Amino acid sequence: MSLGEASSGEAALTQDQLIEALRASETRFRAAFTDAGIGMALVDPDDLIIEANPALAEMLGRTVPELKRLHIHEVLEVEEHSRRIYLELLRGDRDRIRLEKRLRHRCGHAVWTNVTVSLIRDGSGNPQYTLAMVEDVSEARLLGDRLHYQAMHDPLTRLPNRSLFFERLAVAFTEGDQRIGLCYLDLDGFAAVNDTLGHHVGDELLVAVARRLEQRFTARGHLVARVGGDEFAVLVPRSAGAEELTALAAEVVEVLAAPYDLTGQRVVATASVGVVERPVPGTTPTELVKDADSTLGWAKSDGRARWAFYDPERTAHQTTRQLLATTMLPALERGEFTVEYQPLVDLRGEDLGVPRGVEALVRWQHPEFGTLSPDRFIGIAEETGAIVPLGRWVLETACAQGRAWMREFPEAGLFVSVNMAARQFWDSDVVADVAEVLGTTRLPARLLQLELTESAVMGPAGRPLQALHALADMGVRIAIDDFGTGYSNLAYLSRLPVHVLKLDSGFVEGFHPDQPSTALETRRESRREAADQQIVAALVRLAHALGLTVTAEGVESELQADRLRATGCDHAQGWHFGRATASDAITRMLQRL
Ligand code: C2E
Ligand code: CA
Ligand code: CA
Repeated sequence: MSLGEASSGEAALTQDQLIEALRASETRFRAAFTDAGIGMALVDPDDLIIEANPALAEMLGRTVPELKRLHIHEVLEVEEHSRRIYLELLRGDRDRIRLEKRLRHRCGHAVWTNVTVSLIRDGSGNPQYTLAMVEDVSEARLLGDRLHYQAMHDPLTRLPNRSLFFERLAVAFTEGDQRIGLCYLDLDGFAAVNDTLGHHVGDELLVAVARRLEQRFTARGHLVARVGGDEFAVLVPRSAGAEELTALAAEVVEVLAAPYDLTGQRVVATASVGVVERPVPGTTPTELVKDADSTLGWAKSDGRARWAFYDPERTAHQTTRQLLATTMLPALERGEFTVEYQPLVDLRGEDLGVPRGVEALVRWQHPEFGTLSPDRFIGIAEETGAIVPLGRWVLETACAQGRAWMREFPEAGLFVSVNMAARQFWDSDVVADVAEVLGTTRLPARLLQLELTESAVMGPAGRPLQALHALADMGVRIAIDDFGTGYSNLAYLSRLPVHVLKLDSGFVEGFHPDQPSTALETRRESRREAADQQIVAALVRLAHALGLTVTAEGVESELQADRLRATGCDHAQGWHFGRATASDAITRMLQRL
């Protein structure tokens, strides 16, 4: 068998063309075959190598004579797919195939190659030989592996990085119906370490943290990854239960809390950990990580250097809070808020039970959550500042309503009492707002009462204090809300333009203890009751001496009403006299007077 019958052409050539080509340039061809940088071999239909070049011989650690007459199965692994298409080539169904093949080096190791095999036909066009061109890609492949490694690992700590973490997480999720656990952790005050000790110390700390986590947890089959700047994750792909994860989290906190000896520095750092543990079905990788991350936030806000376990209720609560915060202003514009009014009645003498005023209490008619009480959203509104427009809207609504009642029932002299948040005093010009609203609604100032808590008017003298004086000068009445829950500094309050004390319902509760079960308790309770009553009586006397009237809040029973009346309270508010209701119910009440 001489090379004279072969060709170096890549595409299939007819025998005529081949012979023609070879005749014309046999010498050139032989040189090309022999000197080619790429490995070449001619293979007969029985899979015997009948010719090979030095490049291929070198690639496989053999000599050219050694290669010749070797069965190709001795240098490559035959697997089904490539065998099938090779047979297609031999049958003449294909003229050329490309394969990625692992060839066997004489020493046993693998040589990764790209192989192109072309078919050579005889004179009548029948397949005769195949010509294989073999390119060694081992090095490229090694480089690829290295690149892949680099893409999947954090260069600083050499831990698996975020990509690899998510890859492993995805794999764990394909493994069926086991339970999965995740500790998501972050160093407390890492930014401060960077800022005060420098970035190199920060980097060293991260490396030290990585080593501690790796030593402790990788051996147990957990995945330790660096998922962000100073954030790490310990993934337990097959968890035995919540206890395993909380124990693990406690261990993480402990193992990271020991001091670090970095170059010339002793650094103390702690970590906070968010823990999630749950069955794989019914959750997703993204959900797991998101929940672990927000749980980490709780561990932080609960005081750091600790772990927290995921609590769906806390999340739901947080989510609604967030939702309410962001939708409040649009909701105000859409008219989702309403105001209810609760009677403030006289407790004195003949006038017992006569309504003197009403407190405006805001409600949110939420399309999804139903009627929301102010306890659900006022705090949020104060945080976001939405209380300013909301409070102003309540003021307008209540004053307009007060004016309507004044016109319909002039002799009732009913005032409206509107709650004011501290922030309204700091963040808006309350005095101008009140003046404007009184002007547009034409409600006389004497029929408006503003309720402020003690804490809103305490503190450094300033804006709220000036505003209070200006409002009082306008003729607006000022009430101190929830009196008795804060400083209860009557001496201070007496120097302010305050007209009314609203006694917190906590006092009133003491007037009506729950059914005592023993004689002793009865005596004890009645002594406490007596004490509360004496305190209230003293407060009332003091308030009166300072020129203030007293309104008792949260009066739920006749007994309480009687006792409050006996202590000298002027007004009362509570379910016993009437719950907060829509304005038309108040209108009907006024009609019945
Ligand atoms: P608050 O000013 O102390 O209002 C009295 C609260 O006690 C009202 O709850 C009222 O419905 C409730 N209450 C009245 N009588 C009784 C009773 O006999 N027993 C019991 N257990 N409770 C009674 P509401 O309407 O849920 O308001 C809660 C708080 O929300 C108010 O407490 C007030 O601080 C705030 N708030 C309501 N509306 C506004 C507003 O327009 N602006 C501001 N800044 N705060 C408001
Ligand atoms: Ca109030
Ligand atoms: Ca109150």
